[in-house]
Amino acid sequence: MHSAKCSDCGAETQVPFKPTEGRPVYCKECYQKHRPPRRY
Ligand SMILES: [Zn+2]
Repeated sequence: MHSAKCSDCGAETQVPFKPTEGRPVYCKECYQKHRPPRRY
């Protein structure tokens, strides 16, 4: 797990992937909000 700062609420969060520079990282709650809707 990697520590990252949520790009939305600014909370410290743990992500299972290594945060990529230039890309927003969201905590669990914000991830749910920002996750794009499925197109299938
Ligand atoms: Zn957040």
